[in-house]
Amino acid sequence: MSASGLQVSHVTKRFGADETEVIAVRDVSLKVEPGEVVLIMGPSGSGKTTLLLMLGALLKATEGTIALDGLELSALSESRLPDIRLQHFGFIFQDFNLLSALSVQDNVAFAAELTGIGHRAAREKAATLLSELGLGHRLRFSPDKLSGGEKQRVAIARALINEPSLLLADEPTANLDSKAGHETMRLLRQIAKEKGRSVVIVSHDQRIKDIADRVLWLEDGQFKGMVSMVTDPVCGMAVEAEHAVSLQHEGRTFYFCSQGCSWEFEASPEKFVSTIAAGHGAD
Ligand code: ADP
Ligand code: MG
Repeated sequence: MSASGLQVSHVTKRFGADETEVIAVRDVSLKVEPGEVVLIMGPSGSGKTTLLLMLGALLKATEGTIALDGLELSALSESRLPDIRLQHFGFIFQDFNLLSALSVQDNVAFAAELTGIGHRAAREKAATLLSELGLGHRLRFSPDKLSGGEKQRVAIARALINEPSLLLADEPTANLDSKAGHETMRLLRQIAKEKGRSVVIVSHDQRIKDIADRVLWLEDGQFKGMVSMVTDPVCGMAVEAEHAVSLQHEGRTFYFCSQGCSWEFEASPEKFVSTIAAGHGAD
């Protein structure tokens, strides 16, 4: 087995003890290859943020091990962690976390300076990277003057400046409109592929599913089989096959959001057959 990439083995996180104990993450295992984009989805409270914080060495696992490029995080002393985080991880948050007192360029340069490179070199490196991300014309701007999508691209530049092997993003599209969210996530994917960086995104945003190489579903702190979504041929709504109203028609199963839709279909299936043939039907 190669030592590069991220290797998570039987990780559990408990908060509190006895009757107040919460098990936020239960016995999770996961391997992410260099250049791979993994999206972890799940409802609110399912343990996504807790898992991500552990992957980024911001929170200690109660049990289990996490290794990045063969480096075992739980074995590191507290005093080494800040340097390790700076050099091996890039973090992207939903609220961007940019400093409005600094220009776009200095927000990114600042992260580089923390590793000990000089101010000028850091600013040059930041300018090059920001230009690559299409923000060359925004270097001197205050982050306050940027659109949401631009702010998130600055945050991506800041996460990338120290060439980390793992990028971690927590609900990165939560404050973006649909188009900006999708474009920003496509850019993140492109970077992962071009530079061989692993990316783990946690989100409940269904709209970004297609940018991931793999989508995992977290529920009650554990990975579950992905819920299969199908389309109601009557109203066009996406429904979970497992919990939907269904009926058989000409040897096929159709799924509906409600009894009402299934009755409408039953009354005149031919009305919906063309919609089905056009690719909106369910299997
Ligand atoms: P998500 O990001 O999927 O919404 P979280 O990881 O934030 O979920 O939370 C998972 C569970 O762990 C929740 O029940 C939450 O209340 C609990 N939890 C998270 N952080 C703490 C903490 N610091 N102390 C106690 N419980 C926590
Ligand atoms: Mg969260």
